[in-house]
Amino acid sequence: MKKFKRHLITSALPYANGPIHIGHLAGVYVPSDIYTRYLRLRGEDVISICGSDEHGVPITLKARKEGITPQEVVDRYHKLNKKAFEDFGILFDIYSRTSNKIHYDTASEFFRKLYDKGEFTEKVSNQYYDEEAGCFLADRYITGTCPFCGNENAYGDQCEKCGTSLNATDLINPKSAISGSAPVLKDTLHWYLPLDKYEPWLKKWILEDHTEWKSNVYGQCKSWLDQGLQPRAVSRDLDWGVPVPVEGAEGKVLYVWFDAPIGYISATRELTPDWEKYWKDPETRMIHFIGKDNIVFHCIIFPSMLKAEGSYILPENVPANEFLNLEGDKISTSRNWAVWLHEYLQDFPGKQDSLRYALCASAPEAKDNDFTWKDFQARNNNELVAILGNFINRTLVLTDKYFNGTVPVPGALTDFDKSTLDSIKSLKEAVETNLDTFRFRQALAEAMNLARLGNKYLADTEPWKVIKEDEQRVKTILYISLQISASLAIILEPFLPFSMDKLRKWLSIDDLRWDAANNKELLKPGNKVSSGELMFSKIEDEEIERQIQKLLDTKKANIAATATVIPQKEDVTFEDFSRMDIRTATIIEAEKVAKTTKLIKLKVDTGIDVRTIVSGIAEHFTVEELPGRKVAVIVNLAPRTIKGIESKGMILLAEDATGHLTFMTAEEAIKNGSPVK
Ligand SMILES: [Zn+2]
Repeated sequence: MKKFKRHLITSALPYANGPIHIGHLAGVYVPSDIYTRYLRLRGEDVISICGSDEHGVPITLKARKEGITPQEVVDRYHKLNKKAFEDFGILFDIYSRTSNKIHYDTASEFFRKLYDKGEFTEKVSNQYYDEEAGCFLADRYITGTCPFCGNENAYGDQCEKCGTSLNATDLINPKSAISGSAPVLKDTLHWYLPLDKYEPWLKKWILEDHTEWKSNVYGQCKSWLDQGLQPRAVSRDLDWGVPVPVEGAEGKVLYVWFDAPIGYISATRELTPDWEKYWKDPETRMIHFIGKDNIVFHCIIFPSMLKAEGSYILPENVPANEFLNLEGDKISTSRNWAVWLHEYLQDFPGKQDSLRYALCASAPEAKDNDFTWKDFQARNNNELVAILGNFINRTLVLTDKYFNGTVPVPGALTDFDKSTLDSIKSLKEAVETNLDTFRFRQALAEAMNLARLGNKYLADTEPWKVIKEDEQRVKTILYISLQISASLAIILEPFLPFSMDKLRKWLSIDDLRWDAANNKELLKPGNKVSSGELMFSKIEDEEIERQIQKLLDTKKANIAATATVIPQKEDVTFEDFSRMDIRTATIIEAEKVAKTTKLIKLKVDTGIDVRTIVSGIAEHFTVEELPGRKVAVIVNLAPRTIKGIESKGMILLAEDATGHLTFMTAEEAIKNGSPVK
């Protein structure tokens, strides 16, 4: 591999219209943080850049919906997301934002340079215009009927019901989301980046010169290039964004896909006056960490922009991940199907590393993967607690017990001791090889193998037995166990920064160089070690069940919210209806019908009499909560015998799409026996 002088790590700018969830963390930010920390430990010159992407139509739509300004929307999520990253130990050198002045300046200059060089083409096209509001309508501002499925609330770019991509002009009966009026088509001028012009160059640069890129990334690029590239508009008619810096372009802003990646450059400018050496010196290695939805922007469009500008370097690698699903379903902000970072920390305070670990261990590196709470619990309890935490704890407790917390002087090493020490080196190298090629899951597995090795070493050498007859031998055993612990403190630092920070304090290690992990004398005899606490704690079943219940509740709420109402039954006459005698009543007693799961035997005061009614509601109500409930009863329903009990009448309930039942009750207190009509 070519040796570079420095590294520029960028992580996809999260869109500032919602909080960060575990899918973002697993796909982009955990890997970028691991990689950055690893390069730092190796003593490399590295900067890590991120920030909020604060332009685009969804933000203006959200602002309109909530009756606030777009700036207020982005201020809220920028603050929330910046804090979430800090809380999880994702260390960016800068977390900037695209609404900053420095970004407006940088993006305008970039556009202007391409404009002056004649890199854009201009084209007049027909777009929808809202005459009442006096503005052009972006796709998301137009709703109408989907020509494919008949959904009346399809957007101008997509029908969310059938998933079809649309053009605004495809919609039947288009309507402006601003004024509600029917929009008219009007000519508008825009600038385009002729991507087709860069196609031959991109083919060589990616398909021939970067065959080492991850196969999911390479494959997606190849398919885009095989389909052929089209010119892409870089401007839009909108009032939220970086104004197009050209005379006569009033009311037009840079399209968000053009402005957002330039955000990496502005953030670097904000960070350091030396920013050009990170962006323009070919001895800098630029790596983009992104999710798969961003591959086309970072592998095809942004490189074409940089190439057109002419003075910038290109990314050396783009290790994009696939998507993480949650309990078998696609993560979705609008359906609230996610684990939000700020909520996780409320439920699992201090357990950042448990989540970082679980997300890295099952990261969607080559294909989509699923996060489940049960798997999260198993990773924490069976791996972090039982393997890593257990080894560290035993080593420190025994050192404290036998040698007052002092690293002992080793005696002669057996062949087993020597091969164990050699394994530190080979495992460290395996971690390195995998990190160098962006295989974070495998790197973590190899690092954990070092903890497994430590556990096995203790189990095989049994110092707690040997201490009775051979103290010198135990000195050697614990000396080696402590060397393994010290190596873990460095090798696992990129993955588990909070826990390894603790471990380094317990071991009094301040040497934080990657290569020190290979040093058999990382901990010198005579050094003091100590630990008063456990590194990880078990996560109990109840905590996991609470999280699963939370998701089940979300699922139910989603079903209820989106369910279509069942169609009306055929007409009945007023006489038909009048024959039914419905009365207000009160439940007096309730008991479960033996040997059934659904039936409850009720004693009901109907005002006419007190009678027995058998009702199939045992899965929805407990017998304790029923007495005293006001209900409505069809009192003249012919009696039926159910499980040997004569049931006289039927209690009325409403049922929603999830099967949830609720009693029909008079809104005000009313005497039992009052007719319902
Ligand atoms: Zn549709």
